[in-house]
Amino acid sequence: STRIVLASRPRGEPTADNFRTETVELPELSDGQVLLRTIYLSLDPYMRGRMSAAESYADPVEVGDVMVGGTVSQVTESRNPRIAAGSYVVGYTGWQTHAVADGDAVRVLDPSRAPLSTAVGVLGMPGFTAYSGLLRIGRPQAGETVAVAAASGPVGSAVGQIARIHGARAVGIAGGPDKCAYVRDELGFDAAIDHRAPDFADQLRAAAPDGIDVYFENVGGPVTAAVLPLLNPYARIPVCGLVSQYNAATTPEGPDRLPAFMGLVLTKSLTVRGFIQSEFVADMYADFERDASRWIAEGRLKYREDVVHGLDNAPSAFLGMLHGKNFGKLVVRVGPE
Ligand code: NDP
Repeated sequence: STRIVLASRPRGEPTADNFRTETVELPELSDGQVLLRTIYLSLDPYMRGRMSAAESYADPVEVGDVMVGGTVSQVTESRNPRIAAGSYVVGYTGWQTHAVADGDAVRVLDPSRAPLSTAVGVLGMPGFTAYSGLLRIGRPQAGETVAVAAASGPVGSAVGQIARIHGARAVGIAGGPDKCAYVRDELGFDAAIDHRAPDFADQLRAAAPDGIDVYFENVGGPVTAAVLPLLNPYARIPVCGLVSQYNAATTPEGPDRLPAFMGLVLTKSLTVRGFIQSEFVADMYADFERDASRWIAEGRLKYREDVVHGLDNAPSAFLGMLHGKNFGKLVVRVGPE
């Protein structure tokens, strides 16, 4: 099996040198296990967190260990009575061409139901993140305005479309004119604003004339600073991710903005609630699968994938994602379907 391991921990911006490719022999299967051939590897922003030793909600990848990640694979050998050889599964086997996994740690997919790659995208973890965070914490009401950044990506694109399904206005924020055109014209958001435009804050204000009731936080940084003055009383902020900060090695200079922020939370009666999608799985995953499948079939939930070919290209694709080089859900095609 060929695999990509964490060679060293980055300080600030990661580079290709933080990764190393290795070839290893896989162990023999034990009872209950399956041998998997990776087809798709999902690349996600949270992997930046796993590269660091800083305390987080999940353990870091140890130096020398294979990089973690969601995968879609085919079972090539099975010692698990529940899982037939030849079947397709979604699992968490990381950046490698083959893996041995416990049958309990994978979920069998029906390849006739949806394209295999969607199991790590719109019908998988990112789609569920959007669904659970928006509906459980954001609670958009008809006529309200929902704003979300990284709006062409798997989480943001689903947030805006689900907000519209619930009768809210969706304002997307994305990097560059092509992504904005896609968000507005193909995904049907009510507006899409380029966060790199010099007059971004003014454009955002014009796109949200009635203020913002739900800010689904994906990025942090200057985007959040532009959103805060537009928040309405009782606005909800599901804090999902802060991708603009993941490579930050130092605290920004300037005045301490925390007192002003807490003042805003108080005077506007804001709800600011962080979440990790896994906390909602037991409660909401079945509803998500039912609703998302139906919305896709009805053409109301669209998605876009950015497919990179070959495991060797995973590090550069991952590094690019932290700067918005991906356009849609980033997946690596590791092997044939
Ligand atoms: P995306 O595929 O959307 O990729 C990240 C995007 O972030 C980039 O494409 C880029 O889009 C945008 N971005 C990067 N840097 C900046 C910046 N400095 N300012 C503004 N935007 C920036 O990722 P996902 O949809 O997979 O993830 C979106 C967010 O959701 C992330 O923060 C992620 O960590 C979080 N997440 C949280 C989960 C949870 O359980 N809490 C689970 C899954 C994801 P653009 O070019 O448009 O700027």
